[in-house]
Amino acid sequence: MTTLSLHGVGVSKGVAIGKVHLIERNQQETREYQIEEHLLQQEIARFKIAISLARQQLRSVRLHIPHGTPGNIASFIETHLLMLEDSALVEEPVNIIRERQCNAEWAVKIQRDILVSVFDQMDDAYLRTRKDDVDHVVNRIQRILLDHGLEAHEVPDTHLEGCIILAEDLSPADTVMMQHHGIAAFVIEHGGPTSHTAILARSLGIPSIVGVKRALRYVDEGDMLIVDADAGVVLVNPDPVILEHYKQRQLDIIRYQTELIHLKEAAAITLDGIEIELQANIELEKDYSIVKKVCAKGVGLYRTEYLYMNRVAPPSEEEHYQTYIKTMEMLDNIPLTLRTMDLGSDKNSGTGYESTSISTSVNPALGLRAIRLCLKEPTLFEPQLRAVLRASAKGPLRMMLPMLSTLQEVRDIFSIIKGIKQEFSEKGIPFNTDLKIGGMIEVPAAAVCADMFAQYLDFLSIGTNDLIQYSMAIDRVNDEVNYLYDPLNPAILRLIHMTINAGRQHNIPVAMCGEMAGEPKYVRLLLGLGLREFSVHPASLLEIKRIINDSKVVDLEAKALQILNAKDSSFANEMLDSLNIL
Ligand code: PEP
Ligand code: MG
Repeated sequence: MTTLSLHGVGVSKGVAIGKVHLIERNQQETREYQIEEHLLQQEIARFKIAISLARQQLRSVRLHIPHGTPGNIASFIETHLLMLEDSALVEEPVNIIRERQCNAEWAVKIQRDILVSVFDQMDDAYLRTRKDDVDHVVNRIQRILLDHGLEAHEVPDTHLEGCIILAEDLSPADTVMMQHHGIAAFVIEHGGPTSHTAILARSLGIPSIVGVKRALRYVDEGDMLIVDADAGVVLVNPDPVILEHYKQRQLDIIRYQTELIHLKEAAAITLDGIEIELQANIELEKDYSIVKKVCAKGVGLYRTEYLYMNRVAPPSEEEHYQTYIKTMEMLDNIPLTLRTMDLGSDKNSGTGYESTSISTSVNPALGLRAIRLCLKEPTLFEPQLRAVLRASAKGPLRMMLPMLSTLQEVRDIFSIIKGIKQEFSEKGIPFNTDLKIGGMIEVPAAAVCADMFAQYLDFLSIGTNDLIQYSMAIDRVNDEVNYLYDPLNPAILRLIHMTINAGRQHNIPVAMCGEMAGEPKYVRLLLGLGLREFSVHPASLLEIKRIINDSKVVDLEAKALQILNAKDSSFANEMLDSLNIL
């Protein structure tokens, strides 16, 4: 028997084996039929009842949201409820029913097509994904009109335990209801790494692959699947040898993780006695429990832009303040590096309050993002700065500025902070007068001038995700140019090396908080290049610690320099392999 393999993008790591449950539900079968004039009012009433039933269903889903579900998922449901209040979905179909004298299902379909075509024309990748929201809401209305009732998985049930879900697409409401069922993995035909399902799967720690095109054509209900989310591969009805191999791999993963947990209290220190600062990256509340489980000594990157998402207005100073206080408390007051908001590009509020110039930009990643947006729109930024300063009186907090390109930006921020500090001093509002302020090196211009930034800032942190995007001129969310994403490219390594050296020269710490720091294969190279601070996803922290504790820096330096100077990537890769088996 040959094993069929399907490919996609692994968005939440791990391996799962199980029976598949198919969810085929997108685009309902609809057809147009004429409604006689005297029956039009009745048809409109049927449509209005469907809308109110859809609202009832979503309110009931909202009631079932389990405690601890990431806040952004709950807000997706709110977004769907808001859409059911919007005239585009509530009034326009009524006009269409009247004008075309057609059935409600058809009117909803016409309106859906109009809305989706508007989203399709948007340049912004995040906003384009919002067309999925239109589909999720329209499908719900259609299902009610066609009297198809609720999806099986919307009724809490246990028969899905251990199942792998294969779906064309999953709405946030679907995922919320399914997280109770002990799902082993998600395989989704559509979507990319920035889709809502990907975000949720990652925070739930469920192995998931998206973009597995036409998978529903090749898989039947109950088929046995292996989901290798590390490789982005789904194996359908695997032969016994492959199955055995993956069962073994699952056991190895469990054994490895059990071994790793013993390292949680250990210091991160190399074999030749160099102490390494190993911290965690956080974004959702869900991450806090892993941070504690692995006993991270600090947070090197707290992405605060998530606080700004899926809401109709930006957070107030008080809301920022309360969130930061709560975060520090929940993390037992370990040192926290709070990055001021990095909205823009693929990360938007979702409702557009931040700026109209963002979504209309042809190259949003090169536009009003992060510190640029903050300086342009002080109403978004100042409440955050004030809250950070106030919170700094309560615990070990540092502030980090994202996406710096010029020293002038640093000066501008410093002058705003100076004004706030003055006001607080006059009013007797407590804050840490010695609050440390650092900057992210993620724009090549800043890396080249890292020595200058090092003279102004208290610390630097290298954001390789953006540093690679901007150095190689590749859009982070465009899979067509992903092949150019190569941390070993000499241009990238030089920029990293320059930044580390600039920190040394000016005696300030330099960390790395981009994904490269959490990739096991680059740890020794980075140690060899002089990096002494890593901030990684908490789920990878112990593995990175194991590698650090198993490395001797003196043995790495010469080889790391050879990789830095390698002219050809296959040589660099060979050298990296040899560094990793030292
Ligand atoms: C980075 O760019 O490497 C980084 C850590 O920031 P973000 O991924 O949030 O842009
Ligand atoms: Mg970045």
